[in-house]
Amino acid sequence: MSTLTDLTITAAAAGMAKGYFTSEELTIAHVEAMEQAADLNAFITETPEIALERAKESDARRAAGNAQGTMDGIPIAVKDLFCTEGVLTTAGSHILDGFRPTYESTVTTKLRDAGAVMLGKTNLDEFAMGSANITSYYGPVKNPWKGQGDGKDGKDLVPGGSSGGSAAAVAARIALGATGTDTGGSIRQPASFTGIVGLKPTYGRCSRWGIVAFASSLDQAGPLTRTVEDAAHMLTVMAGHDAKDSTSAPIAVPDFAAGLNAGVKGLKVGIPKEYTLDGMPSEIQALWTQGMDWLKDQGAECAPVSLPHTKYALPAYYIVAPAEASSNLARYDGVRYGLRVAGDSLDEMYEATRGEGFGDEVRRRVLIGTYVLSAGYYDAYYIKAQRVRTLIAEDFRKAFEQVDVLLTPTAPSAAFAIGEKMDDPVAMYLNDVFTVPASMAGLPAISIPAGLDSGGLPLGLQLIAKPFDEETLLRAAAALEAAAGFDAKPGGAG
Ligand code: GLN
Repeated sequence: MSTLTDLTITAAAAGMAKGYFTSEELTIAHVEAMEQAADLNAFITETPEIALERAKESDARRAAGNAQGTMDGIPIAVKDLFCTEGVLTTAGSHILDGFRPTYESTVTTKLRDAGAVMLGKTNLDEFAMGSANITSYYGPVKNPWKGQGDGKDGKDLVPGGSSGGSAAAVAARIALGATGTDTGGSIRQPASFTGIVGLKPTYGRCSRWGIVAFASSLDQAGPLTRTVEDAAHMLTVMAGHDAKDSTSAPIAVPDFAAGLNAGVKGLKVGIPKEYTLDGMPSEIQALWTQGMDWLKDQGAECAPVSLPHTKYALPAYYIVAPAEASSNLARYDGVRYGLRVAGDSLDEMYEATRGEGFGDEVRRRVLIGTYVLSAGYYDAYYIKAQRVRTLIAEDFRKAFEQVDVLLTPTAPSAAFAIGEKMDDPVAMYLNDVFTVPASMAGLPAISIPAGLDSGGLPLGLQLIAKPFDEETLLRAAAALEAAAGFDAKPGGAG
């Protein structure tokens, strides 16, 4: 049975179609893997009963000749930021204690309707704020990879964040795919840290309805998988206009897997010169150059481009995202959801609930956000950050007049040890230096596992494309994936 957990979504779908195994068998193998890997702390809530029930329904559908497509019967994990009907939804926060939504998010509804089997809800940074999955009320997630040298021998490493549980589950062969959300890098950076594929679609491609909001103008759902083709299949199901989210785009969803193998001959690939950072590890620079060669070998042309406002993206993000977060998190007042801590007056109850319910990082963001939105500082910080955001989007727009996609590293380092950077928020925020600009511009971007560092840890390369051009993004990603031939697995997985 153990080999079932090593399949791709595409191969598992083919295996079920041919009658080699059932969804129930596939699901049982993954539930067992989930139990065996409990030590990773990848899940906040495991839902094996729901999984088995849906697997049986899938098998019955298939037996009746009504199988729904590639995702039917596929065991997946769901980031615990997606509201799931009747199933505890925590956002990694104490303040949502006991919250069982009476509704299901649009994206998880689409996956369920396509027959996907939910194994459970994965751990994440509290309210998706973080890059290491260490701010969760439910404790850190361990990366299934172990590194050597550089003080990492034998240490538990972070899986990245905030979709750290989803990334760890997919990398550790507990789930064939998982949902994530990405506000400033939370799908792509954990994908890079765990050696898997992570796709952040264009802002508006997937509905945000029923996803616990962090920064509404940036949040976007996307898949974490082990191959580009699997990401394409999952995105095809997850995407689409939704009348319940006014920012979801009313444009058609193609079959993203259809054009994957069209190749990159003649494709113009931009290399943003501002992404070369002082002090960046030489291994990351070398992998980036290797990535250019891989694409050139397949007929693409690489050319330098300039995105002059890149250096302002991270500071502007850390104004815009906390501003929106402070507003979104105002709803957690001890009345409408979860935790309530008693106080002598209504105001004291609010204060006690929020004081106890939110962790340090969330409080830091609410304080920053409230500050930059307050009278007197609004123009100096918030409005200025919004202007910078427009300039960043303009940089990309101009670059895309010359090129079809951009190639960059995903993150400035490989996974680091749990406990590192914890008392230095700025060092932690620097993890997002390569992912945040595309988020600020709302562009689709993907991380592909491209190699291992000298300590044996995965490193990712990022591709960024024009708005709603996920097809070109995936086609270039497939070419990069084929050339990289990344087949390393974390110790003990599979
Ligand atoms: N690490 C970034 C932050 O802490 C991005 C998080 C995310 O994309 N959800 O804000």
